[in-house]
Amino acid sequence: MHAGFVGTGNMGSPMAANVLKAGHRLTVYDVRPEATTELERLGAERAADLPALARAVRATLLSLPNERVVEAVVLGAPGAPGLVEGAQRGDVIFDLSTVSPTSTRRLAARLAERGVRLIDAPVSGSVSGARAGTLAVMLGATAAEVAPWEPVLRAIGTSLFCLGETGRGNILKLLNNYVALTGQAVLCEAMALADRLGVPRDSVADVLGKSSGGSFILERKRAALAAHDYRAGFFVDLARKDLGLALELAGEAGARAEVGREAWRLYGEASERGFGALDSSGLLRLLEPPEDGRR
Ligand code: NAD
Repeated sequence: MHAGFVGTGNMGSPMAANVLKAGHRLTVYDVRPEATTELERLGAERAADLPALARAVRATLLSLPNERVVEAVVLGAPGAPGLVEGAQRGDVIFDLSTVSPTSTRRLAARLAERGVRLIDAPVSGSVSGARAGTLAVMLGATAAEVAPWEPVLRAIGTSLFCLGETGRGNILKLLNNYVALTGQAVLCEAMALADRLGVPRDSVADVLGKSSGGSFILERKRAALAAHDYRAGFFVDLARKDLGLALELAGEAGARAEVGREAWRLYGEASERGFGALDSSGLLRLLEPPEDGRR
């Protein structure tokens, strides 16, 4: 199959590589030309611009930082035409980015006027899952709508959830990240407390990992946390964004979300302290005892 891929950053690059390795043809575009170099080496073709990419393929995957960028890439921005300029009726855009269900529904309605289907398809499983091709993909569409492009999506994720309506994929993704990111904030607090009590981080990870405090995040990040290695990964700024979107959703639905609000405030503080481009576990930099010389 021949697909397009826009946004080949921390997540997009390994996902696109897996699409190529599965034997599909791929046309790629990123605003940073260096972001597609490795993919071109693997056989990807680089589009000159977004309309050219859309003209070349009938399905495009997006992995972009936020909804403002998704909208600019799809609809275009002043002086920078978007995918719609080159799209045909019947084309499909799978948005793998984490954005709000409201923005997805709004953009899907705009594209429907032109006969283009936008499907929210956010992913979970972190950069390591993207490399392994084992992501969970949460699709705001029916299985029948997804079926024609399933071979491409299967190269990215082992668990494809077809959730029916547009926006439902993003709702599930934000619920997942609400749990994962508040959990990570609590784990960071526990590690910082252990530091102060003189308990090695490895001991915390060993014991919690076999006890009721264990989690996916702990297993994925324990070695990095023990080594004080906070290279991204998944940026502090993205954690702040995702929790903010989950809080917006809670606000719209009239649900309480106080634990998440406090975690969101902490990620925000880390971002303002200059840690925004660290991995989200870099929240620990904010909480570590000052005497260890890393502040
Ligand atoms: P990233 O910043 O590494 O990648 C985003 C890419 O988009 C970059 O290469 C950037 O150059 C490109 N880009 C930005 N503006 C563009 C434009 N106008 N046109 C074309 N390309 C543009 O971020 P990431 O970590 O890869 O995350 C991407 C999305 O996936 C986000 O929505 C994030 O919330 C979500 N996500 C990330 C993870 C993770 O672990 N990193 C996990 C699940 C979901």
